[in-house]
Amino acid sequence: MSTEITPQSATQAGAVDAVIVGAGFTGLSAALELALQGRSVRVIEREETIGDLASSFDIGDGKRLERFYHHWFSSDAEMIRLCESLGIAHLLEAHETRTGVYYANSVYRLSAPLDVLRFAPLPMRDRIRLGVLALRAQRVEHWRELE
Ligand SMILES: Cc1cc2nc3c(=O)[nH]c(=O)nc-3n(C[C@H](O)[C@H](O)[C@H](O)COP(=O)(O)OP(=O)(O)OC[C@H]3O[C@@H](n4cnc5c(N)ncnc54)[C@H](O)[C@@H]3O)c2cc1C
Repeated sequence: MSTEITPQSATQAGAVDAVIVGAGFTGLSAALELALQGRSVRVIEREETIGDLASSFDIGDGKRLERFYHHWFSSDAEMIRLCESLGIAHLLEAHETRTGVYYANSVYRLSAPLDVLRFAPLPMRDRIRLGVLALRAQRVEHWRELE
């Protein structure tokens, strides 16, 4: 794909309702939304591949590796609905949440409230604050509450 394509030249190349710059997750989702509303859309991307931050690359033997690690939570209902609508929900894999932190040559488990209480690098007062924050965060229903 050419870096010389601009929104202006892309629009001139043929009448479309919208030109989207960037074929990352956001651009592709926006294009899908518009297309579902019956609009004609052109997506322009400067890289050879799509997906950018959420993309993967070939590591040989037909295997691919994510450029960055990614997951969704089972509560990410919009994402799961999107996968269902695209007919790819069967490709999602559910795994138990296992989070750890590597700090000062040690790996600390950080998956459950008790793990936070055992997280020695933080003073006890801060462990409690972190635990309370995690509990409060579970009750957040809309991202605006975090602003
Ligand atoms: C380490 C890491 C971990 C993450 N983990 C998660 C996770 O677990 N779960 C999750 O949901 N999200 C996660 N994310 C976030 C997720 O990857 C991004 O939110 C998402 O991929 C961003 O998509 P985007 O389309 O907004 O941007 P990008 O992926 O950056 O895409 C932008 C695109 O626009 C193109 N572009 C820019 N300018 C131009 C131009 N002038 N002309 C043509 N093309 C242009 C770029 O080449 C690129 O392809 C993680 C991100 C990182 C870095």
